[in-house]
Amino acid sequence: YAAKQTGEPVRVWSPELDEHASSHAQLGAEMRTALDTGQFRVVYQPIVDLETGSVAAVEALVRWEHPERGLVSPVQFVPAAEQNGLIVELGEWILRTSVEQMARWRAELGDAGPGRVSVNVSARQLNRPGFAATVAAALADSGLPARHLTAEVTETAVFEGGQAVIALHELRALGVGIALDDFGTGHSSLGLLQTVPVDTLKVDKSFVDGITEAGRQAVIAESLMHVSTGLGLSAVAEGVETAEQAAALRARGYRLLQGYHFGRPVADPDFDLVRTTVDLLVSQRTGSSSGND
Ligand code: C2E
Ligand code: MG
Ligand code: MG
Ligand code: MG
Repeated sequence: YAAKQTGEPVRVWSPELDEHASSHAQLGAEMRTALDTGQFRVVYQPIVDLETGSVAAVEALVRWEHPERGLVSPVQFVPAAEQNGLIVELGEWILRTSVEQMARWRAELGDAGPGRVSVNVSARQLNRPGFAATVAAALADSGLPARHLTAEVTETAVFEGGQAVIALHELRALGVGIALDDFGTGHSSLGLLQTVPVDTLKVDKSFVDGITEAGRQAVIAESLMHVSTGLGLSAVAEGVETAEQAAALRARGYRLLQGYHFGRPVADPDFDLVRTTVDLLVSQRTGSSSGND
C-alpha cells in the first residue's frame, strides 16, 4: 500500500518473508473452516514420576490435520490463532476435549492412568475476562475434579499482568494447578514467582539438552531445581530424549520428566509401556553403580 501511495517501492522483497507472511495469513483464514469441520486433534504426552514409577500427568498438545498440507505444527498455527482471536474458541475446544479424555481415563484406568491433564493456555485466553468460569464449566460438564487439571501458561503471558494474574488466582481458587511453561526462557522469570500463584515450573528443554555435559545448561538446571525446592514447587524437566539425560536430571533432584524418551505425544498413549520405560531406567541406575551419576 505504501508503495502505491508514494510511488516508491518501500519493501525489499524476500521469498522467505513473503511465503511466511502469506502462509501465516492463509492459515489464519482457513482456521474457521478447520474448526467447523473437525480438523483439529489433541494428542497427549506423558509426564513421568521417577519416585513412584507412575504417569503423573499428560500434556495435551493440539494438532491440525490439514486436508492439503498434512499435519501442521502448532508452532505455525497457534500464533496465527492468537492473532486472529480464534485461539479463544480453539482453546476452549482443546480444554473441553482434554478434560473429557482425562475423565474417561480416570473412569477406565484409575491409578494406572495419568494423574492429571496439563493444558496449554495462551495469553489471549488468559486475558479475557471469564476464563476461569469457562474452565469451571468445562470441569463441571465433564465431571472431572479440578485437582486433575493443570493450566500451563508462559512467563510472557503472565508478564502482561492485569487480567491474566487475576485469572490465575481464580483458577487456583477452583483447585486447578498452574504450571509456568518454558521456564527460564521468558522475561522476569524469578520475579514472577513472588506475585503469581504457581505450583509447577516446567524447566525448558534448552536447559535439558546439555545436562549430561558439565556446562552452563547443567548449572542452570541445577539452580532451577534449588529454586523450585526452596519455594515448595514441583519441577518438570521438558524435552528429555535419552536415558542419560534422565539419569543426570534424577541425580540433580528431578523426579518429574517429560520427553521423547518416555513417549511422544499421541492420541492414545500406552501407559503400561511408559511405566515399563520408567521401571527400566530406575532399576538400571539403582542396580548398577549407585550414586555414580
Ligand atoms: P510446549 O507447551 O512447551 O510443548 C512442548 C513441545 O515440545 C511440544 O511440541 C512437544 O511435542 C515437544 N517435545 C516434547 N518432548 C520433546 C522431546 O523430547 N524432544 C523434542 N525435540 N521436542 C519435544 P508441539 O506439540 O509441537 O508444541 C509446540 C508448542 O506449541 C507448545 O510448546 C505450545 O507452546 C504450543 N502449543 C501446543 N499445543 C497447544 C495448545 O493446545 N494450546 C496452546 N495455546 N498452545 C499450544
Ligand atoms: Mg506446554
Ligand atoms: Mg513446555
Ligand atoms: Mg517448551
